[in-house]
Amino acid sequence: MTVWLVTGGAGFIGSHFISHILNVHPSDSVFNFDLLTYAGNLDNLTSIQDNPNYHFVRGDIRNQHEVDSVMKHGIDYVVNFAAETHVDRSIADAGLFVQTNVYGTQVLLESARKHRVRKFVQVSTDEVYGSLGKTGTFYESTLLAPSSPYSASKAAADLMVQSYQHTYGLPVNITRCTNNYGPYQFPEKLIPLTIARAMAHKKIPVYGDGRQIRDWLHVSDHCKAIDWVAHHGRAGEVYNIGGENERENITIVRAILRHLNKPESLIEHVSDRPGHDRRYAMDSGKLRRESGWRPAYPFDIGLEETIRWYVEHPKWWQRLLGQETPQSAAGMDGGDDS
Ligand code: NAD
Repeated sequence: MTVWLVTGGAGFIGSHFISHILNVHPSDSVFNFDLLTYAGNLDNLTSIQDNPNYHFVRGDIRNQHEVDSVMKHGIDYVVNFAAETHVDRSIADAGLFVQTNVYGTQVLLESARKHRVRKFVQVSTDEVYGSLGKTGTFYESTLLAPSSPYSASKAAADLMVQSYQHTYGLPVNITRCTNNYGPYQFPEKLIPLTIARAMAHKKIPVYGDGRQIRDWLHVSDHCKAIDWVAHHGRAGEVYNIGGENERENITIVRAILRHLNKPESLIEHVSDRPGHDRRYAMDSGKLRRESGWRPAYPFDIGLEETIRWYVEHPKWWQRLLGQETPQSAAGMDGGDDS
C-alpha cells in the first residue's frame, strides 16, 4: 500500500488531487496536511472524508515538529501543494509568501530527507518563467525570471527543491503548470469571481485592457499529470504541464457573461496590476513524450461545466466572498496569479 502526504490538500487543486488518488488507487492511503488558511476548505473533500484511507491533519508546513510528526507515518510520496497562491495578496504582504512558499518548502524537504521518502513532488507554476511576448513558449530549460513576490517565492522554492536532490540525493520532481480551472476554486480567481459577480449582477473589474493571455488547463488533467510524475517522473527532472489552450482574460469574462445571459456592460476596466505578466504559454512536450499525457478536457466543455457547478453550489462560495482581497474586488486575472 502506498502512503501519500499531500500538503495543502484542502485547497483547490490539492483537494482534487486527493479525490483523484483515492479513486484511481483505492488501496493507497492519503494524509492531508493543511493549515486551513482562508484558502483551505474541508468542504472540498466531503465526498471522501469518510474513506478509511483518508486522514486529515491540521498543521503548518513552517513547523518542523508538526511536519516530522506526520512524516513518521511511513510516507512514500510527498506532494507539496501548500502555498500562498494569490499574486495580489503577495503584492500586499510579500513576507508571508517567503515564509510559507520558501521556508515551508525547505521544512518539508528536510523532513522528507530524514524520513527517506521515495519521491518529493513540488507543485510549481508557469509564472516562475516570467512573461512572454506575442510568440514563444516556456520550456523546462527557460531561465527563471519571476515578476511578482508570489512567482519569486515559487521560483526560490523550486531552487531549494533542486538543491536537496543535488546535495542530499533526495529524489525530487518539480511540476510547472499553467492556470487551472474547475470546481472548488476560491472566488478571488478570475473564473469563479467573474461567475459570482455576474450572478449577483455586480460590476466585473478587469485589469487594464484584459488582453493578458493565459493557458488554461482543467484541474483533473493537472491531477493526472502529477500522479504520473510522482510514480514515473525521472528523479531530479522538471516537467511543464500546459493546457494547449491560450485565451485572453477578456475572452473568458465575455464567455462567462454569455453563458449566464448577462450584459457585457458589467465589465469595468480598471488600472493594471503592477508588474503584470502579459502572456504565459507552456511547452509540455517532455511530459507528453515520456508519459503520453495530454490535456483531455476540451476547454469549452470544461468551462461550461465549471459555470454550472458554481451556479448549482452557491452555498459553497457565497460564504467565502467576504474574504476576497480588496485588489481582487478591484481587478483580477487568471489562475494562481489570478
Ligand atoms: P489554494 O490557495 O487553493 O490552496 C492552498 C492550500 O494551502 C490551502 O488549503 C491552504 O490552507 C494551504 N496552506 C497555506 N499555507 C499553509 C501552511 N503554512 N501549512 C499548511 N498548509 C497551508 O491553492 P491552489 O490554487 O490549489 O494551488 C496549489 C498549488 O499549485 C500551489 O502551490 C500553487 O502555487 C500551484 N499552482 C496553482 C495553479 C492554479 O492555477 N491555481 C497553477 C499552477 C500552480
